[in-house]
Amino acid sequence: MNSASSAALSTLRRVFGYESFRPPQDEIVAHVIDGGDALVLMPTGGGKSLCYQIPALVRPGCAIVVSPLIALMQDQVDAMNQLGVRAAFLNSTLEARAAFEIESRFLDGQLNLLYVAPERLLTERCLDLFAQGEIALFAIDEAHCVSQWGHDFRPEYRQLGVLHERWPEVPRMALTATADERTRAEIIERLALHDARVFLSSFDRSNIRYRIVQKDDAKRQLRDFLNAHRDAAGIVYCMSRKKVEDTAAFLADLGFTALPYHAGLDAAKRAEHQRRFLREDGVIMVATIAFGMGIDKPDVRFVVHMDLPKSLEGYYQETGRAGRDGLDSEALLIYGLGDLVLLRQWIDQGEASEERKRFEHQRLNALLAYCEAGDCRRIPLLAAFDEVHPGACGNCDNCLEPPERIDGSELAQKLMSAIYRSGQRFGAQHVIAILRGDLNERIAQFKHDELSTFGIGSELSAKQWGAVVRQLLAAGLIDVVGEFGSLALNKSSRRVLRGEQSVWLRAPSEKRRERRRRGVPVGTTTHGDALFERLRDWRAKTARAAGLPPYVIFHDATLAAIAAAHPESHDDLAGISGIGAKKLERYGDELLRVVAATG
Ligand code: ADP
Ligand code: ZN
Repeated sequence: MNSASSAALSTLRRVFGYESFRPPQDEIVAHVIDGGDALVLMPTGGGKSLCYQIPALVRPGCAIVVSPLIALMQDQVDAMNQLGVRAAFLNSTLEARAAFEIESRFLDGQLNLLYVAPERLLTERCLDLFAQGEIALFAIDEAHCVSQWGHDFRPEYRQLGVLHERWPEVPRMALTATADERTRAEIIERLALHDARVFLSSFDRSNIRYRIVQKDDAKRQLRDFLNAHRDAAGIVYCMSRKKVEDTAAFLADLGFTALPYHAGLDAAKRAEHQRRFLREDGVIMVATIAFGMGIDKPDVRFVVHMDLPKSLEGYYQETGRAGRDGLDSEALLIYGLGDLVLLRQWIDQGEASEERKRFEHQRLNALLAYCEAGDCRRIPLLAAFDEVHPGACGNCDNCLEPPERIDGSELAQKLMSAIYRSGQRFGAQHVIAILRGDLNERIAQFKHDELSTFGIGSELSAKQWGAVVRQLLAAGLIDVVGEFGSLALNKSSRRVLRGEQSVWLRAPSEKRRERRRRGVPVGTTTHGDALFERLRDWRAKTARAAGLPPYVIFHDATLAAIAAAHPESHDDLAGISGIGAKKLERYGDELLRVVAATG
């Protein structure tokens, strides 16, 4: 081990109380300590922050962290201060006096870490300030914000190349959880990181259990799911503001602490809800995708999607907010045929160019391939990041309860015939009514009870037929067209109809879902342990008194480890992951008291 590595490891143990680095943290940290530039691509929860925090402590001078997330800087600084690290931030929320004081601390060499908003950094005043002090490194967090194509685009990020011009000798690192090739290339180009070493980790989040259920009564499905996750913090994503409001109210009625969050709420309300989500235990945020970037709450136990997300990449980022602490977490997607039809129509009816529409349809197809996968979910999910996963992860619904496959060629042919005979002008509901022989008003109106296909599919329920439609759509064997979401045939349909191509489908079974719903909930194993609960109560009180989020005091994982170890001395405590020197000094006695009192 060279000197950079050994200094890094001893800092990790002393300050953070962690035993070892998670590869490739060790390599990244050693590289930057030795003065190298780095581009770090790691999934959410992978442990990016340590990659700059450790070099910040080992290298002389102050590390400058560029972050677009002003609202979260206070928490980041609080977390560092709790560890005994001298950290501060400069952004527009500070009054001139407070900012001046921080500038002086920087100049006096009294800071290890300084968080700065990009627009602030780019001012002459700030650049001059930095020129007068000693800088350990620049860390550019959320580096994908340079990308014009992503939804987090921040124009100021494009000017950060200036850091390289002014401080060619200071190591720079760019960090992001967005890994696609194009974004990567843009970061290197815009931030002048051509000589940087690229550290690309696997994007697999092995502690997240991915699960998809067919939407049938979404609210009831949500309620059942949440009942298995009582007292846990989580996020419930909905497609529209109205649905966010509805769902939050529904959950509040059931006694959950559920708060809405969407762009239609005024800024103060949004900030308040975000604060409560971060500061209180067990709050459920019901939100549109406006919520989430940079939320580094480690103990989010679940993320539910009440509607189909817009893309697989988006879905990955959103679900990735669960389980940053590495403990078991769950991602549930409740989706139905209606979502799919709606998304297709949005794309078709939008103003975008044909090229853009084709791109959007491809994205949707990738998402559908994931939803309708009969195999390990991680294969299509990670393929979105050009990563090859071998499958059989053992922690997704399909691996845990492999779906039975049947030869569905005949079912497909029946459905296609019904679509064809009724003129390819009707939506799924109507076509299914024809198949099932439901003589409703519309069927009568169009005389569809006289079709040869009327009633040929009574062996399946309407819901089961819905699943067949979705699978055929996902496989591209039929299409949705027009304003009303009519089902239509395409070239591939003809091959199936002519018997040239067989179709494999999931066995249409209602029982499978019943069984799943009763499945063992994850992430709740520690709950119910008396000592763990007492520790959590102690943490909540301590956090409130200090005006801090509970996880800044200790993570759940650390409390669980304490509960399991029953420590009796400071030495015992020091051996527990997440208890560094400062926290031991600060909280050691109180922890031992709680442990002793619970017996
Ligand atoms: P990211 O910024 O990549 O999303 P974080 O830096 O927030 O991830 O780290 C995620 C979690 O993992 C944090 O709770 C952090 O304390 C923990 N962590 C990171 N590295 C280690 C390590 N080497 N040992 C133990 N825990 C770690
Ligand atoms: Zn799997």
